[in-house]
Amino acid sequence: MANDKRYAQADNDALLRIFTIPEAPSSTLSKIEAEISKNLNGFLSNHIVATDKPLSEIEKDFASSALPERPEYVSAHTSQLLDTLIAQSVHTSAPGFIGHMTSALPYFLLPLSKLMVGLNQNLVKIETSKAFTPMERQVIGMMHRLVYGNDDEFYHHWMHFADSSLGAFCSGGTVANITALWVARNRLLAAKPGYKGVSEEGLAKGLKTYGYEDLAILVSERGHYSLKKAANILGLGHSSIIAIPTDTEHRIDCQRLREKCAELEENNIKVMAIVGIAGTTETGSLDPLTQLAEIALQYQAHFHVDAAWGGATLFSNKYRSRLQGIELADSVTIDAHKQMYVPMGAGLVLFKNPKVVAAIAHHAEYILRKGSKDLGSHTLEGSRPGMAMLLYASLHIISRPGYELLINQGIEKAKYFASLIERNDDFQLVSKPELCLLTYRYVPKATQLYLQQCTTSQAVKVNEILDRLTVVMQKMQREAGKSFVSRTRIPRQGQSSAAISVFRVVLANPLTTNDILQQVLVEQEEIANEQTDLLAQLQILITD
Ligand SMILES: *Cc1c(COP(=O)(O)O)cnc(C)c1O
Repeated sequence: MANDKRYAQADNDALLRIFTIPEAPSSTLSKIEAEISKNLNGFLSNHIVATDKPLSEIEKDFASSALPERPEYVSAHTSQLLDTLIAQSVHTSAPGFIGHMTSALPYFLLPLSKLMVGLNQNLVKIETSKAFTPMERQVIGMMHRLVYGNDDEFYHHWMHFADSSLGAFCSGGTVANITALWVARNRLLAAKPGYKGVSEEGLAKGLKTYGYEDLAILVSERGHYSLKKAANILGLGHSSIIAIPTDTEHRIDCQRLREKCAELEENNIKVMAIVGIAGTTETGSLDPLTQLAEIALQYQAHFHVDAAWGGATLFSNKYRSRLQGIELADSVTIDAHKQMYVPMGAGLVLFKNPKVVAAIAHHAEYILRKGSKDLGSHTLEGSRPGMAMLLYASLHIISRPGYELLINQGIEKAKYFASLIERNDDFQLVSKPELCLLTYRYVPKATQLYLQQCTTSQAVKVNEILDRLTVVMQKMQREAGKSFVSRTRIPRQGQSSAAISVFRVVLANPLTTNDILQQVLVEQEEIANEQTDLLAQLQILITD
C-alpha cells in the first residue's frame, strides 16, 4: 500500500514515478495478477456473465462524463475496477461459452502481452520497431507459406524485401478485407496515359478512363458485413456488393455466379473482385474455391478468399483439403484472434504476389521513405502494436502439429454435438458442421413431423412461433449464466426467402467437454418446457 501512496498526486515527481516500473506492484495489482493466474475464475465466478444485472443497471456504474479532477491511488482505482468493470465482464474463456469465436487463450500470452505493452513498439516504421519489423515480416512469411506453400527460395527472396510485402498484419478481418479490396480496386483502376490512377484521381475519372459503367464485388449471400464496409469506404457503395444465392449447404452457387458475371459484363459493369468464403461466420460453410478461382480468371477479376475464421484449418493435414483452391487466391484474410488463440486484434491479409502492395503504397518524408522496409508504407492502419509477437510465440510454442490437434478436436467436438442434436427428437440440426461451427433449433418432434407435410403458409406460421421460442430460450440461457450459445437468422435449406432463427455454436475452446455439451442441451430442454404459452400455440397450429 505504501507503494501506491506516492502515485495519487498531481505533481511532477509523483507523475514521473508512474512511468517507472515499481519492483513490487501494488497489492491490488498483485491481486489482479494472482487472480488471472487462477484462470479468471476469481473474478468471474465460473459463470458466463458473473452478474445477472441488466445492461441498463451496469450503465449506471459508467454514467458520469465528468473528467476526473483528483488523482486516485492506483490501489483505490484498481479495486473499484475489480468491482465494476472486471466483475461484470463476460467470461469468454469459460468452457460453456460456445456461442462466439472468442475463446480461452493460452496462459503464456498474458505475461507476453504485458511485455508487448512494456516495450511499446510501433510497427509503422523501423525506427520504432527494430527487431519487431523483421519478426512481423517473418510471421507474415510463415502464414503466407501456410496458404501458398512456396519454397524456401521464394521466402528467402521476398520475406524482407523492401517496397514489397507478402501481406499485412492488421487489427482484424475487417481491415484485412478492406486492404485486399483496396489493392484490387487500385490495381484495376491503375494509372495509364491521361489518368494517374484511382489513388491519385479518384473513382469517377477512373471509370470514365476505363469505360466502365460501374464496378462490382461478388460474394455469396453469407458474406461478412465487413465487405459492405469495404465497398462503402472504397467509394463503390453497398449496392456494388452483389450477393449470390447459396446451395443447400450454404455454399455459393457457381452457376448463378457465372450467370451474374455474364450479365454484369453485358451491362458494362466490371467485376472487380470475386470473394470466396472459407468458413462463413454464420454457418461455417466453405465455398468451392477452385471453381471460384476459375471464374475469377475468366472475368479477369481479383480473387479474394475471406478465411478470417476458417483459415487456421490449413494447419490440419487431416482437414486442410477442405480449403482446396485457397492457394489460387490473389489475397487471403486470416484472423489470428479467432482459431489461432491469440487475443484481439490480430488479423492478416496475405498476397500471392508480394509486389501488389505497390498499388496501395504511401510514402512520407520523415518515415516510410521509398526503398525503406517500413511496414507502414502499405498498411491501412498507421501506428500499430507489436501483436505479431504473440502470434510468433504461439506459432513456436504450439507449433503446426499443436494447431492441428486443436483444429481437429474442434471439428470432432462439433460432430459429436451434431450427433447429440440428431439423436434428440426435439432438436433439429439446421446446418451441419463442416468445421467446428453448427446451427440448430428446438422443434418438438410432433412439430417436426407437421413441418414435413404442411403447406408453405402453414410452415410460415409455425416458424414464427419457433423463432420466438429460439429467441426466448437463447436469452434465458444467457441470463442463467451457466452456458452461452449465440443466435442468428439464416435461410432454411434451399429456401432463400424464408429465414429462421437458430442457435449458433462455435466449438473452439479446448476446455469444452462432451459433458458440457450434453448439459447445454439438457438446460435448453428445461427452458423450452417452461415456455408453456408458446408450446400451446404450436400445439394449436399443428392440430388445426
Ligand atoms: C470475423 C470475420 C470477419 C471480420 O473480422 P474482425 O476480426 O471481426 O474484423 C470477416 N469475415 C469473416 C468470415 C469472419 O468470420
